[in-house]
Parts: sequence; C-alpha cells; structure tokens
Amino acid sequence: MKLEERKKKIEALRAKGLTYEKIGEQFGITKERIRQILTFKVEYCERHKRKFIGTCIYCKTEDEYVKKVKSILRENIFDQIFLLIPHTRKREVVMKRSAVIRALKDNYHFKFSEIAKLMERDLSTIKYLYKKQWTR
Ligand SMILES: [Zn+2]
Repeated sequence: MKLEERKKKIEALRAKGLTYEKIGEQFGITKERIRQILTFKVEYCERHKRKFIGTCIYCKTEDEYVKKVKSILRENIFDQIFLLIPHTRKREVVMKRSAVIRALKDNYHFKFSEIAKLMERDLSTIKYLYKKQWTR
C-alpha cells in the first residue's frame, strides 16, 4: 500500500473514533507509529529515493549502524578497517581484510550484510573471504 493511501485509511479510521492502538492492530504497527503517520506529513528522502513519514527508516538504520560500529570497535581499529577498503588484490591486504571480517563476524557478531556494507563489498565477496583458508 502506498504511504499516502495508508495515511488516508488511518485518518478515516481515526475520524470514526478508533484509538491509535486499535488502528495499529489493523495495520500491524505500533500506536506510536500511527501517531507519527497522523502527525507528520509524507516526506521524500533524496538519499534513498523513497517516501517516508517521521524518519526515513534507511537513514535511521544507517545512523544506528555507524553508531554500533563506533561503539564496539576502538577508534584505531575503526581507522584500520578503512585503510583496508581500497580495492586491491594485494595478497597481504586481502589477508588482513579476511582477518578483520572474521573478527567482526566471530567476535563482534556482525551479520555478513553489515560487514559487506562496512567494507563496501558484495555479500558473496565477504562470505568468500570469511571462509578462505590462507596458505603461505
Ligand atoms: Zn533515507
């Protein structure tokens, strides 16, 4: 359902006197979300090319993700990860990248998708590097 369409339906239910909670149950969302939908106007996120009410969930997720990364990794490690980002196939660098991926996954319980985003790589590349056995 389009956002504007959903908003109209919610407004109609509200006009009938339904509580935020009852409306929320019908749409499978929280009463807080209903309040947001009724209070805020539909906006457009340029960054994610989508309409939203209240907060763009993708922007919010990205911000929370960055916070998560910053909070669990010491700053120097955080900087090191970014040094590993340049697209190079130099064995040494790829080995380090592989080690960082394992640390993020095994020690910090990051999802592969989160690591992929952090390192700006495809999910398949991250999975491959996670599993890769390096022989000297
Ligand atoms: Zn956004």
